[in-house]
Amino acid sequence: MIINHDVVIVGAGLAGLRAAIESAEKYNVAVVSKLHPLRSHSGAAQGGICAALGNEEEDNWVWHAFDTVKGADYLGDQDAIAQMCYDAPKTIREMEHFGVPFSRTEKGLIAQRPFGGHTRNFGEAPVRRACYAADRTGHVCLHTLYENCIKRNVRFYPEVQMIDIIINEDGECAGIVAMDIRSGEIHIFHSKITMMATGGIGRIYQTTSNAHANTGDGVAILLRNGLPAEDMEFVQFHPTGLYRLGILVTEGARGEGGILLNNNGERFMAKYAPTVKDLAPRDMVSQCIYKEIQEGRGINGQPYVHLDLTHLGLAEIEKKLPEIATFAKIYLGVDPSKNPIPVAPTCHYAMGGIPTDINCHVRSNEGDGIVKGLYAAGECACVSVHGANRLGTNSLLDLVVFGRRAALEILRELETEGTKKPYLPKNADAKIKNRINQIFANNDGESAAIVREDLQKMMTKCASVFRTEEVMQEGAKELPELRKRARKVKIKDKGKEFNTDLMEALELENLVTISESVLLSALNRRESRGAQARVDYPERDDANWMKHTFFYTDDNGHTEIKYRPVNMALAESNEEYADKFKPRVRKY
Ligand SMILES: Cc1cc2nc3c(=O)[nH]c(=O)nc-3n(C[C@H](O)[C@H](O)[C@H](O)COP(=O)(O)OP(=O)(O)OC[C@H]3O[C@@H](n4cnc5c(N)ncnc54)[C@H](O)[C@@H]3O)c2cc1C
Repeated sequence: MIINHDVVIVGAGLAGLRAAIESAEKYNVAVVSKLHPLRSHSGAAQGGICAALGNEEEDNWVWHAFDTVKGADYLGDQDAIAQMCYDAPKTIREMEHFGVPFSRTEKGLIAQRPFGGHTRNFGEAPVRRACYAADRTGHVCLHTLYENCIKRNVRFYPEVQMIDIIINEDGECAGIVAMDIRSGEIHIFHSKITMMATGGIGRIYQTTSNAHANTGDGVAILLRNGLPAEDMEFVQFHPTGLYRLGILVTEGARGEGGILLNNNGERFMAKYAPTVKDLAPRDMVSQCIYKEIQEGRGINGQPYVHLDLTHLGLAEIEKKLPEIATFAKIYLGVDPSKNPIPVAPTCHYAMGGIPTDINCHVRSNEGDGIVKGLYAAGECACVSVHGANRLGTNSLLDLVVFGRRAALEILRELETEGTKKPYLPKNADAKIKNRINQIFANNDGESAAIVREDLQKMMTKCASVFRTEEVMQEGAKELPELRKRARKVKIKDKGKEFNTDLMEALELENLVTISESVLLSALNRRESRGAQARVDYPERDDANWMKHTFFYTDDNGHTEIKYRPVNMALAESNEEYADKFKPRVRKY
């Protein structure tokens, strides 16, 4: 069936829902999501969403921009960072007016807490900048935006999985090919505007805070259509996952006063980051935890450390961190008001993704080309505000700021150009139908779960927190075989309705494509910067590597890497603060 809409947004997390709002009153807007919208990973966000509101103490957007640029290890694009930090206060107030029930100060203002890397006056001391709703910030934001979309008659297609995008002979995006999971039918969505808001990639690793659905579909599908992926080597490992499980313990726990301890009971972060200590940025804290473990100071010689909240007291924990207290009790049997929580780094966030300009148009190459009709925002996109390392609470902000900017640009495009859709190529779904028939016909392959596990093991061994040429080369050698195995998987369920075997087989191909882009981009970048910590190239190398990676693949193993310069708008401006934004050694 061909389904027609003016706008088709793929992804019902905060980025997708925020983008749906503006056009929905005048135009025919659809949101396609492989999950029920309220199951999107945004709903799992705990700690907060930041903006220099200054409700608790003095703050301003330039300090926020400084922290973001420094946190990003100077790889973030400064025009985009300035835009995000400047837009933040009004975007949060708008969220408040949409109905988000934020926690409050005694005066009734939106309450704010400290978070890693967020400081006052260019690094002087931690600042309270993260707005929150206890430790359920994402949950309340997602529900509020969903209600606002329903109110504006956004048409939802829940449990519909995008399998391909459609780019016509003129290079314009004409829509997507998707499978209705409930019936197994393949549909073409034909639209004037198509937007990717498909979220993260965390499932390429064994231990991750990410939901099962975070398989990088949007990024992988665009890569297979010849479009680039930017800075994929920068994958964030969050310092505090529950040991072995990877389930997240929000950085808000340290924001509220929690501290990390090694086996000697030492507050080891004081040694590495004397000013901000446990509130150093995530790349640093994760690397420090592994150093402590490698040097024999893991708890009882095991690969984890302790997160101690006991001094906060039961009442404070129940008021400000109720969710994580429950997680610790259920999954590890630990009551955080009585005992420290065992934690270790867990894969958390992709700084890289689909390259976009500041108005969320998808870039067609490392230059200034764009794909007409195609937009992206949220975790799947790379605009790039997080550079080599994202600060906590800057992702939720990125989602709503750039979701909103995409919305305004989409509205502008519809108003000026009208709603005439790009030409739809004949048999746009033929390739996908063939691929699915082929999967059904495979009778002698392995299950997707087995290949996925081997892929995750390889990525965990070869491309996690610390990386070396030798180990990454080993991983790169395994890739072609993994790709072959992924294309040959066998599915047991041969039915059409709710065929989760088939969904997983399709997602596995995306995981392989994403892993390839992460591993080969990391192998190529011979320096350490932010989340890319190379043991064999331990220093940051601005002379050679102050540039964004643009990775291309044809999915048959032919890959190419090109570069785009980093935008230095703030450092090059005439403002008195310009000097603060020039790259320097990163100390906290
Ligand atoms: C446990 C956890 C806690 C976090 N806490 C915070 C925090 O406190 N503060 C902060 O700033 N950040 C936090 N983050 C990061 C932040 O939550 C995510 O980066 C963000 O929610 C991603 O939002 P999104 O809108 O881009 O995508 P998501 O919310 O991940 O949504 C993706 C959407 O795309 C859809 N989709 C994907 N593939 C397809 C497909 N093939 N076809 C159809 N639909 C598809 C899904 O159904 C879903 O609706 C946290 C992340 C995690 C995992």
